[in-house]
Amino acid sequence: MSSILDTYDRKSISFVRGEGAFLYTEKEEKYLDWIGGIAVNILGHSYPGVVQAIQEQSKKLMHVSNAVIIKEAESLAKRITDNTFADKVFFTNSGTESVEGAIKIVRRYFHTIGKPEKNRIVSFSGSFHGRSLAALFLANNKSHTEGFGPKVEGFDQVPFGDHEALKKAINKNTAAIICEPIQGEGGVKVVPDYCLKGLREICDEHGILLIFDSIQVSFRTGTLLGFENSGISPDLCCVAKGFGNGFPIGAILLTNEVAKGMTHGSHGTTFGNNLLACAAAHAVLDVVLAKGFFEEVKTKGEYFDKELKKLKDSFPNIIEEVRGINFIKGLKLKVDTNDFMSKLMKNKLLVVKAAENCIRLFPSLLSTTDELDMGIKIIKKTCEEMS
Ligand code: PLP
Repeated sequence: MSSILDTYDRKSISFVRGEGAFLYTEKEEKYLDWIGGIAVNILGHSYPGVVQAIQEQSKKLMHVSNAVIIKEAESLAKRITDNTFADKVFFTNSGTESVEGAIKIVRRYFHTIGKPEKNRIVSFSGSFHGRSLAALFLANNKSHTEGFGPKVEGFDQVPFGDHEALKKAINKNTAAIICEPIQGEGGVKVVPDYCLKGLREICDEHGILLIFDSIQVSFRTGTLLGFENSGISPDLCCVAKGFGNGFPIGAILLTNEVAKGMTHGSHGTTFGNNLLACAAAHAVLDVVLAKGFFEEVKTKGEYFDKELKKLKDSFPNIIEEVRGINFIKGLKLKVDTNDFMSKLMKNKLLVVKAAENCIRLFPSLLSTTDELDMGIKIIKKTCEEMS
């Protein structure tokens, strides 16, 4: 009997070692890992640059308080602002903490500019923004909020993709709209670029802020924050997951304008700016910001998409739709997802579920074509077994 609080539906398997795209059990059984720590291990397991950075930093200094200047955090924030829309960064420890902080920053901004009545945030149905009380009631997924009342106030929700409902939902109390550029947990649902642009226009028209939750999509679409191809930028962006490739780190990215309200003492977190987290994130940026990295992600991503679509064409009774972009992919299934996932696992491929009867595929961005082919072959074999 486990002493861990039983909140996760775990598979009866565990791993002792990870290397690149693969996980290994104690008996050295090898699994192709397309869960990737749920979109975390963008460079695969135990990526040498990240391992080395953490090892070297841990010998020097692991943690100091935010009462002093932390040079490694300063340089990390500078690298992020140099390469994104953002002027400022607040480091957190997780995605949820980034979302929670973004809600606070939005409210504080309007308070500071003398419009405290603007304190409500509009979200989309099917979204997921984390498990704190505010993040739960922001996303408003009944299966997640049940039993956790009283409801946290300040959030309104519109159906995903319903432009008219969105326009109607905006009123004098609206402060911001929050959107995942691709809904991950919601079923790998891509928000098309013209809709992202539309969101920016609505926000500008009403003098409200746009928040992107890029926690799951960062890097995977072939850009740093997952939405840059749309040509627009938000006022705030929440990130986490892949930024540490397995070492916990998150961040809120924001503009100078939105940062206005945040003064000394207005927000804080003990482990934000932690030196090991910063070392890991620097090592990740060393890879992803290197010339040509994202071009390669796109090339391999297109190949991956093409191969998945071939599978869909070959097994129309099993795969209904191929969703997502590049390395954040989903297969909407016509068969039971749990059954399909168990069979994939028997065939040594690990994937994770999403809403709308989808499975999510998160290969490492460093996957070779051979490794992608290996996964495709396992899905094909599993489809054959189920046909
Ligand atoms: N937002 C999105 C889009 C996510 O995918 C997640 C996690 O899956 C979160 C927020 C919450 O992040 P965390 O689990 O790191 O708190």
